[in-house]
Amino acid sequence: MPPRRHPVRYTLWLARTGAAPKTLSLPAWVPLAVVLILLVWSGLNLWLWQRTAEMRSLQIQLVSLSDQARKLNNQLAAERTRNNALSQDAQSILKQLQVLEAEINALRERAGMPKIKLTPTRNEGGGRGGDSKPVALEDVLQHASQQTKAFSQELSEVSPALNETLEREAAMPYGYPIRGHTRITSYFGYRRNPFGWGFEFHNGIDFPASYGAPVQVTGAGVVVEAGWKGPFGLAVVVDHGYGYRTLYGHLSSISVRVGQRLERGDVVGRVGSTGRSTGPHLHYTVFRNGSEVNPARHLD
Ligand SMILES: [Zn+2]
Repeated sequence: MPPRRHPVRYTLWLARTGAAPKTLSLPAWVPLAVVLILLVWSGLNLWLWQRTAEMRSLQIQLVSLSDQARKLNNQLAAERTRNNALSQDAQSILKQLQVLEAEINALRERAGMPKIKLTPTRNEGGGRGGDSKPVALEDVLQHASQQTKAFSQELSEVSPALNETLEREAAMPYGYPIRGHTRITSYFGYRRNPFGWGFEFHNGIDFPASYGAPVQVTGAGVVVEAGWKGPFGLAVVVDHGYGYRTLYGHLSSISVRVGQRLERGDVVGRVGSTGRSTGPHLHYTVFRNGSEVNPARHLD
């Protein structure tokens, strides 16, 4: 009969003062299990400690990263603000260019030249309707420098034409020959003969005025006649160029000489009643290419 194997057991003696010791009989696997548990636990602890260290370092990295991110964000915001400001500058440059273009076109119109289109419309280049994309500053600046060249070229071209227009306008008879005297006693055209029977053609306009009132030339020009002129008595004729001449008649005195250059408003003489006249008044005639025209068209 084989000897019966007893299972190995450990007995734990727990000594107590003044009392019988306590014994604890344990199967053999228990201390093994305890040792194993201790090993696992300390391993776990080690692992956890390592993880915590890793976590801490990760946390530090994270803080530094988020710091960097915040800084970058701030920079981005600043950049965006700067870009917005630049974009607004660009818009204002575009607006100014448009104003300039309008002014140049006004000048061109004044000079009798056709209008031009220099600044492109904002939505050029495939922007969908109402889609207000911010204008790229470089584009605007490049465009602006081109435009400025085009504008100055434009102005140098408009300038002579405009000067001619302004000269012509300064020369064209315009306004009343006696300041503040807008009353008319005799109009241009056929009228009853003031000296006898029937009708006669009156080739100008008569302005009643007191004797000696100053008579002013109605446009820039050169005096071509200054003296006695038959029925007009003492008279002055001024050549304005562009086919225009004006005559001031029945004067009491003349204050200009033939060949004298006059600007609009210069006094040519004083109101009188010389020649074929019934009382102090100014006879005013406007000639266009040698024939008399209605001066009324040149008053206002
Ligand atoms: Zn008259």
